[in-house]
Amino acid sequence: MGNKTLAILKPDCVRKNLIGQVITKITEAGFTVKGLKMVRLTEDSAKGFYEIHKDRPFFNDLIKYMTSGPCVPIVLEKENAVEEFRKLIGATDPKKAAEGTIRKLYAENIQENIVHGSDSDENAAKEISHFFSRKNLLDINGF
Ligand code: ATP
Ligand code: MG
Repeated sequence: MGNKTLAILKPDCVRKNLIGQVITKITEAGFTVKGLKMVRLTEDSAKGFYEIHKDRPFFNDLIKYMTSGPCVPIVLEKENAVEEFRKLIGATDPKKAAEGTIRKLYAENIQENIVHGSDSDENAAKEISHFFSRKNLLDINGF
């Protein structure tokens, strides 16, 4: 069982000015922030990240949403990080998410659901390198 996971504060989280509140929930739950940045995904990068969903009916909307503005990928550390983080964020659909979870508290609907969490140790490692290996990104720090 691994000790790292990748979170993304999605574009709706950034637009709603909830970055601080969501990170507070995450660190209060015992996670340590090991890496963090703000990026805007290119279309190709978003398609690569969500390749597993490429045949799903919501794929095009998902890519539009994830490229609609900046997002904040975060490398998190905690024992059993993947499972613990998915417990903290709650079900994909906020209507089905448990009380007190981040999606229950802040998410709008099944698409605009505030935050991503890796679903396995293997995917966590891939996703961390997707965001923290300096490729496929538009740098937004130049405004
Ligand atoms: P994530 O991978 O973002 O942590 P998840 O693992 O809970 O979320 P997935 O099934 O991997 O959910 O779906 C990836 C993302 O695609 C969801 O977080 C959501 O933004 C979007 N999505 C999933 N299902 C639907 C749907 N039925 N309609 C619209 N968007 C959806
Ligand atoms: Mg997923």
